[in-house]
Amino acid sequence: MTTAADFATILILAGPQGGAAAPPYPAVIVAILILARLGAELWLSRLNARYVRSHANEVPEAFRAIIDEPAYKKSVAYTLAKSRFGNLEDAFNTAVLLLVLFSGILPWMFGWFTGGLGESAWAMAAFLLAAGLALSLPGWPLDWYAQFRLEQRFGFNTSTQKTWWADRFKALLLAVALGYPLLALILKLVQWTGAWWWLWAWAALLAFQFLMLVLAPVLILPWFNKFTPLPDGELRERLFDLARRTRFRAQSIQLMDGSKRSRHSNAFFTGFGRFRKIVLFDTLVQQLTAPELEAVLAHEIGHYRRRHIPKLLACSAAGSLAGFWVLSLLARQDWFYRAFGFAPGNVAPALLLFALLAGTVTFWFSPLLHGWSRRYEYQADAFAAEAMNGAESLVSALRKLNEKNLSNLTPHPLYSGFYYSHPTLLEREQALVGKDH
Ligand SMILES: [Zn+2]
Repeated sequence: MTTAADFATILILAGPQGGAAAPPYPAVIVAILILARLGAELWLSRLNARYVRSHANEVPEAFRAIIDEPAYKKSVAYTLAKSRFGNLEDAFNTAVLLLVLFSGILPWMFGWFTGGLGESAWAMAAFLLAAGLALSLPGWPLDWYAQFRLEQRFGFNTSTQKTWWADRFKALLLAVALGYPLLALILKLVQWTGAWWWLWAWAALLAFQFLMLVLAPVLILPWFNKFTPLPDGELRERLFDLARRTRFRAQSIQLMDGSKRSRHSNAFFTGFGRFRKIVLFDTLVQQLTAPELEAVLAHEIGHYRRRHIPKLLACSAAGSLAGFWVLSLLARQDWFYRAFGFAPGNVAPALLLFALLAGTVTFWFSPLLHGWSRRYEYQADAFAAEAMNGAESLVSALRKLNEKNLSNLTPHPLYSGFYYSHPTLLEREQALVGKDH
């Protein structure tokens, strides 16, 4: 048993000392943090599953007008099946992470790379990329199961094996083609710019992300999906009329063949400035009426007009700046390398360890980020209700989307508070009705 006093000693001893001895404590603390995250994930999941089950016997009062008994039962079954699978996934990912960190496999791989290729930035970028790709492999069978068993069972999967494997292959090629030069550049910047390398690396990452924002809709997304302009007709008239009314200069509204992979439906926004376009999944267009689609588009325009996108980008840039700064501090500590079996001296292992461990810490910030995101969703909803002269069409669109996607209508408030980037159907309706009166 570890008592509180022991734990305090561990914390004190693990402080950054940079000494020659390699205290095992940083490793112990990292293991505790990783397990704490898993504990929180499983606890939240159990809380949520129990809450859903306690409402499972009959459709709750608030939803009787919206959803019939069979559809409700199906949404409960889907939620519980996803929850069980999620638990398995969380436990598996934790086990893989612990194994990778503490088995010595990473230092072995590092030695193998430096032995064969040396320690140049190009060789180290290859090491990081290879490690990243190797670490993504254990998750593939779970992804496959989620798509072809879980989603299949509830009628969502429309993907073929061929599409699934082609997606993997394309993603791999992209990771190599884009990731390798970026990693090599960052490692070069460490050599060129000295103590302030983290600031330069951050600027390089930002420039890269900016470039992707412009290029992805044009070069990358069309590689995975077919995009076609929304055909002439009532719907197109309606949507462009809405764009004019809300002073949104739409370059184009495009249809995406989302049905190639799944029956889940969605709408999103890509690019910015002149490259801005609105994308509607073909599944969404099949499920909703013209006024409902107009309301969904009004919601998306709401995000744009309230300047949510630049604000989120600024927040993410601030987050990555903080990340690079912390990384630069850790990369100077000998204990950080030694705790995981590396010899200090080359920054590449610090980069890899940081990438592996960042999620253990950022996980605890998710309620904050998601709370922020939910505030933006309310604002976009309010904008849509105003643009549509009332909330009716948005409410009926949201109801349909929740039903078609078998969304969990009764998440535990702690669970949705922690994980949900969008408010629940009930929360959104209440906010909209509040605005109506
Ligand atoms: Zn939204």
